[in-house]
Amino acid sequence: MDGAELVAAGIDLGATGCRVVIVSAGVVVAKRTAPTKELGAGTPGERVARLAALLTNLVPRGSRLARVGVGASGPVELPLGIIHNPDTLPWFSGFDLATMLRAELGVPVVIDNDAVTAAFGEYHYGAGRGFRRLLVVTLGTGIGVAFLLDGRPFRDRDGQHPECGHLPLQPGGDRCYCGLTGCWETIASRISLEARVEHVLGTRDLAGAERLLRDGAHPALEAALADYGRSVGRGVEVLNVSYSPERIVICGGASPLLPYFAEGLEAELLRAPGFGSKMEVVSSALGDMAGAVGASVLAENEYPVSERLAQNLG
Ligand SMILES: [Zn+2]
Repeated sequence: MDGAELVAAGIDLGATGCRVVIVSAGVVVAKRTAPTKELGAGTPGERVARLAALLTNLVPRGSRLARVGVGASGPVELPLGIIHNPDTLPWFSGFDLATMLRAELGVPVVIDNDAVTAAFGEYHYGAGRGFRRLLVVTLGTGIGVAFLLDGRPFRDRDGQHPECGHLPLQPGGDRCYCGLTGCWETIASRISLEARVEHVLGTRDLAGAERLLRDGAHPALEAALADYGRSVGRGVEVLNVSYSPERIVICGGASPLLPYFAEGLEAELLRAPGFGSKMEVVSSALGDMAGAVGASVLAENEYPVSERLAQNLG
């Protein structure tokens, strides 16, 4: 075992897919994606064993796994790291995944929300490198937001990341599952973008929409993207006023289309002279790997430590 190169594993546990990366000295040396539902068959013990096998099979020969980080969609109870997402992640919710995975692998395991792990990914390896005040906004099924100050995530009194997807921005808007109306994520998530694209093209295929936009000359689609950009921009400006970030990185499935909705977004950020601070909005550099790559540095990072977590970190 001595002399083996130590590597970290990052897991992005999403509702559909589970992405795993092995990182050695800041470089991704192996990666794999597996359907989360398939990993979730059987008892919790069987699910954990399957996840552990997925990791260990990816570790290159001559290397040794030193730690594991997991970014999970949905509420994560901190500092225990128990996922509470029965709606979209039922297979890994409601039991002590971190402790069971640690017992299976014999290395420290830390779990956090996927908004936080995506932010760590962009801060350490992506479009957020070198920015002391960094906001990462994930436009996915919902909207996840994490604010890093000198690389450390801002947390609320329960240890959670800011729940900014539920900023109630649209008066009289649709009722959100959270109970409020007009939440930002009801008008600006990737799902909302897909609905706008479907309205114009009759399909929710964002990659196809991107090709059409790249070729130009599709005014109705361009108008739909501009409208989406304004909805994204409303929330981005609230975050800008609240956190005064130096940079905002847009992650998630809508991120590749930022060049086509940036104009609408930026229109919402225009301020009178003397108001507002210099801030830029850019696309993710890591794409759909941000969460997994960020999870690989989770166990190394500053974290609200309780006796239980300290024990888990070994
Ligand atoms: Zn809501």
